[in-house]
Amino acid sequence: MSQHHPKVVCEVDTCTHWLPGDVCGAANIDILNEEEQAAESVEHTMCKTFAERRGLANLLGSADNVNWWGAIEAAIMPGRDLSPTTTCVVDSCVYWEDGNLCTADEIFISGSGAKECQDTNCDTFEKK
Ligand code: SF4
Ligand code: SF4
Repeated sequence: MSQHHPKVVCEVDTCTHWLPGDVCGAANIDILNEEEQAAESVEHTMCKTFAERRGLANLLGSADNVNWWGAIEAAIMPGRDLSPTTTCVVDSCVYWEDGNLCTADEIFISGSGAKECQDTNCDTFEKK
């Protein structure tokens, strides 16, 4: 059984999961509200899976959330998209669906130069 997941395009190149081509190499990403109340704008959302790149130790530390199969497939089948699954709790967004799913075809994660999760956003958020 496979559920729909958006293609993830991410510009946050300070994240340990980021790969050239604005690709996210994580197996799954969690999109959350930045505050306790439901997001009203893009700035109120964040990618909780962001982890600041800190050299090799950090790279190894994040190895439990790597889309290895996707990476292998992308390597042996050029042109195949590598994209994580998305879990999103931002239910004030038009694309949100029961089960913490996102129905958008593609989401753009912004926050170039981010140092923490709060510096990232789901740029595709649109208020219901
Ligand atoms: S910020 Fe989020 S979407 Fe972007 S590379 Fe990191 S984990 Fe992936
Ligand atoms: S577009 Fe909306 S539903 Fe999809 S991940 Fe972003 S905030 Fe969540």
